[in-house]
Amino acid sequence: MATLGIDFPVFEPGWVWLVGAGPGDPGLLTLHAVNAMQQADIVVYDALVDDRILKLLRPEAQRIYAGKRGGRPSAKQADISLYLVELAQQGLRVLRLKGGDPFVFGRGGEEGLTLVEHGVPFRVVPGITAGIAGAAYAGIPTTHRDCNSSVTFVTGHGASGEVPDNINWAALAQGAPVLVMYMAMKHLRRISGELMANGRTGDEPVAIISRATTADQHILITTLANAADDVEKANLEPPAVCIVGKVVDLRDRLNWLSPQDDVKTVRNVPFDRILDLLAPAGGKD
Ligand code: SAH
Repeated sequence: MATLGIDFPVFEPGWVWLVGAGPGDPGLLTLHAVNAMQQADIVVYDALVDDRILKLLRPEAQRIYAGKRGGRPSAKQADISLYLVELAQQGLRVLRLKGGDPFVFGRGGEEGLTLVEHGVPFRVVPGITAGIAGAAYAGIPTTHRDCNSSVTFVTGHGASGEVPDNINWAALAQGAPVLVMYMAMKHLRRISGELMANGRTGDEPVAIISRATTADQHILITTLANAADDVEKANLEPPAVCIVGKVVDLRDRLNWLSPQDDVKTVRNVPFDRILDLLAPAGGKD
């Protein structure tokens, strides 16, 4: 049988792998993520992991839903981390599957620290984060030479569910020409107000991308001054990312993904082939 010719790590019993599942579109998974899904005994997954991705797990893999919706207090986080420890100590191959990238507003760091504390060996598989993928699927580059040489990732929720109180709004507003905001919908009025009060202009373009990279992707183009009102009117569904900055205007020319287009798709073939190719390299059997 043909193989990919790439060495993949063997998922050893007693290990935890913290794996990013990307923003939704299964095609944005990494090969390491697929390799992990082919070997795991148990998967502890988040609300933001797409069903089509869970279908790539070994059928025998046990599935545990550990979803929390954004903004809720993180009281359960400690429990989830300790649960991972417990499963690993039972000698299972534990896959902790998270939306996007595990280390970008994903609490992967907290889980990793608990694993370290308990001496549980682990591996991290980065994923494509929703901010970058969502922007790209909306035809917006997060950096563009004519617009910005830096970009800031920011969360609109602290652990308490409120706007983080350690945000230095002046530094945020003036620090980078492009802001990629996660979990910002609930407090968008406050956030856009603070940004304008600290030097951003009301006519600055803003893109809100809801359910990015899925079949339900919706994009709202607005301005900083109108963003909160327009989001309310449009009734956008979470999760959503919010991009602020001149790069948003590039969408006029770079919008490559039009829902009206009749996109040709090939069902099953590519993934089946990848799974076949991964199987012998994965070290199972
Ligand atoms: N670790 C994740 C982020 C988790 S925080 C990552 O790297 O992408 C949850 C926030 O991520 C959501 O509130 C939303 O702002 C964003 N998000 C996750 N998936 C998304 C998607 N498919 N479309 C738009 N935003 C998404």
